[in-house]
Amino acid sequence: MTVRRSTLHLAVIVLAAAGLSACGRPGGTEAPVILEPTLQPTATLGLALPSAPAPDAGAAEAGIVFYNGVILTMDDARPTASAIRIQGERIVAVGDDAPLLAEANPSTTLVDLGGRTMMPGFIDAHTHLFHVASSFGKDDLSAQAEALQFGITSVGELWSDQALAAHLTELAAGGDLRLRVSLYVAPFLDGCGNVYDQDWYQAFAPGASLGHHLRLGGIKIYTDGGSCNAPAVSFQYPGGTGQGDLYFSQADLNATVERFAGQGYQMAIHAIGDRGIDQALEAIAAANAANPDGPRHRIEHTAVVRPDQMRRFEEVDAVGVLFGSYPTCSLVHRDGSFQYYTPDDYLSWEWPWRSLLEAAPGAHFAYHSDAYGVRPLDTFLNLHGLVTRSEFAEDGTVCQPPPALAANAIPVAQALRAMTIEGAFALGQETELGSLSPGKLADLIVLSDNPLEVAADDLLALHVQMTLVGGQVVYCADSDRALCPEFPATSRPTSSDSGGNQFREDFDSVLGPGWSWEHEDPAGWSLATTPGWLRIDLSAGGFLSAAPSNVLLRPAPQGDFELLTAVRVSPTRNFEFAGLIVTFGDGQVLQFGRAYCDVPGVCTGSGYYFDNLRGGASIGSNYALPGFAGSQHILRLHRQGTTYSASYLSLDGEWIPIASHIVEQAPVSIGLLAAQAPSPGPVAEFDFIEVRTP
Ligand SMILES: [Zn+2]
Repeated sequence: MTVRRSTLHLAVIVLAAAGLSACGRPGGTEAPVILEPTLQPTATLGLALPSAPAPDAGAAEAGIVFYNGVILTMDDARPTASAIRIQGERIVAVGDDAPLLAEANPSTTLVDLGGRTMMPGFIDAHTHLFHVASSFGKDDLSAQAEALQFGITSVGELWSDQALAAHLTELAAGGDLRLRVSLYVAPFLDGCGNVYDQDWYQAFAPGASLGHHLRLGGIKIYTDGGSCNAPAVSFQYPGGTGQGDLYFSQADLNATVERFAGQGYQMAIHAIGDRGIDQALEAIAAANAANPDGPRHRIEHTAVVRPDQMRRFEEVDAVGVLFGSYPTCSLVHRDGSFQYYTPDDYLSWEWPWRSLLEAAPGAHFAYHSDAYGVRPLDTFLNLHGLVTRSEFAEDGTVCQPPPALAANAIPVAQALRAMTIEGAFALGQETELGSLSPGKLADLIVLSDNPLEVAADDLLALHVQMTLVGGQVVYCADSDRALCPEFPATSRPTSSDSGGNQFREDFDSVLGPGWSWEHEDPAGWSLATTPGWLRIDLSAGGFLSAAPSNVLLRPAPQGDFELLTAVRVSPTRNFEFAGLIVTFGDGQVLQFGRAYCDVPGVCTGSGYYFDNLRGGASIGSNYALPGFAGSQHILRLHRQGTTYSASYLSLDGEWIPIASHIVEQAPVSIGLLAAQAPSPGPVAEFDFIEVRTP
C-alpha cells in the first residue's frame, strides 16, 4: 500500500540525511539547540492559591508566545516573523521577539523555538482520509494521527454518501475529529457517471458547521472518467483506446452546476482530461454569471491542461486542485501502472503547474494528495514532487522526469503556498485558515528545518516536530517533547481491530497460522523482498494446474464473509492474473483480480476480471472493466448465501461493482492467487488479506 511504502521509504531517507546533516550542515551549531519551554515563574501560583487549579479559560487567557523562530507566515502583509502569540484557539499577534515578549504576562507560556521553522499547518484540499482508511488497515484515529504527523491540520474529504456524512457527524459530536474536515458530499452521481440525484444533502446547509472541526465544504460531481472509465482528452490515447469519457453534455453540466450553486453550494468538479476541464470551466463561468456573489468553485485534479485553457482559470475564478507527487517511475518505465498514458507529444500538458501559475497569476491553485489510494498522504513527498517532479523508486534509485515534465516543477515558495493558503482558498476558508495572521485560527506546525533553505532532495528529510490545531498541541514528535507546551503524554492504541469476527494477515515477517500453499515453489514467493508484503511470482500455473503456482489458501469461513486484499500488479500479457480466490469441491474456482486478457470477442485487455471456472474452463461470464487505476488495487469479494459479488475501490474511494456469480455448493478455501503468466518475470505483491464475517 502506498502509505506504508512511503513511510518506510521516508524513514530511510530521513536516517541518511540526519547522518549527513550532523556533520555537514553549513552554519550548523555543534551543541544541540535548547528547546526547553520556559515557564515564567508566577507570583501567585502555589500555596497561596486555593487548591483548585485555574480553570481552562484562565489557562487559555494566559496564552503562548513562540519566539526566536523562523516563521513563514504565508501572509503577504508580513511574510516572515520570529514570534507569534496565541490566545485560546486563535493567533493574536505575529511579529518580532521583543514586542511580543514584552506583552507577555506572568502566566504566559514562553517557548523558545531555537531558530526552528514554523509555518501554517498543511491543508490537503482533496483526500479520502476517512472514507478509504479502513481499506488501508487504518481506523479513523490512526488515519488522523498520520495526517497530523505530516503536519496536515485541515483536509477536504472529497466524497461522501449519507452514511459517511452521518459517521463523521458522530465523530465530531464525540470530539473525535482531531483535525479540521471540510466534507464534500456526492448526492448526484457516482464516479462512473451514473446519476442518482438524491436529496439528503439538503440537511446540510452550504458551509455549515456540522460539529467540532467538521463543516460542509460543498458538492462533488464528475465531468469525466478517471475514477472509472477514462479521462476525456482531445488527443488519442496510445494503442487506439480512444479519447476518454465525458459524462454530461455542456448544457446538462451547466444546469447541474447552476442548480447546486444557486442554492449556495460550492461545487468540486472532477475534471482530469482537457475536454473535461473545458466543460468544468464553462459550467463555472455560466454559474458565476448567473450568480455573481455565489461561492467559489473548484476543479479537481486538473491533470491534462492545454495551454489555451490556462488563462481561463483566472478569468472564471476557478480554483484548480493539483496533484503533488508525480508517479514518475511508472511513467519513465512504462510499467503498466496506467492504462491511459498521455502520449509523449502531449507531455507538456500533463500536470503543467508552472505554466498554469504563470499563465493565470491571479488564479488560485491548491495541492491535493487524493490519499488514501491515489498518491501518498505524506506532505514532504508531495512537496518534493511539486518542486522536482522526480520520484524515488522502491530500491532507492531516483526516477528523473522527462524534460516536458521537469519544466513544470514549481519553486518551493509557491509549493508551500499551494499547500497552505491556497488550500484554504479551495475550501473557502481563507479568512480563517492558511496563514499565520492575527485573528486566524492557530493551526500551525514546527519543522525540523526550513524548506526554503534545504536542497530540493532534502525536502524529503524534513519532518514535523509539532502540530497545533486551534492552539492545542495535537502532535509532538517523540524526539521533540521539550518543544511542545502542555502536551499530554497520551499513549494511543496502535492496533484497533478488536472485533472478534475478523481475520487479518499483514504479511509482516512470517505467515500466520492456518495458511497452506497449493502447488508450492518456495523459490517463487517471499515475505522478505518487500518487507510487509507477500511477493509471489506470476508462474505459469494456477489453482487447477499441477505446475508450481503458489496459491495461498486457508479454510473458508462458515456462512457469509467479505474478503479484502491490496495487491500491486501490472499484468501485460495474456492471462496474467493476481487477486483473490475461493475454491469449491469438484474443481470449481472463483477468482477475482487484476488481469490481462486480449482475445477477440472475449476480453479487451487490462482490467478487473471475475472468473467462475470449473476444471479450468469458464462456466460463467468473465467480466472486464478496464479502469484508470494504477498498479495498486484494493479488491473485495463478498459472499451472501450463494451469491459472490466482486468490487474494486476506485481512485475516489468508491466500491465499483464488477459482477456476481452464484455457486450453490459450500466454499472450501479462500486465499490469494498470482499466476497464469505465459513466461516467467512478472510478480504480484500483496499488502494484506482480510476476512470479515458478520
Ligand atoms: Zn479523490
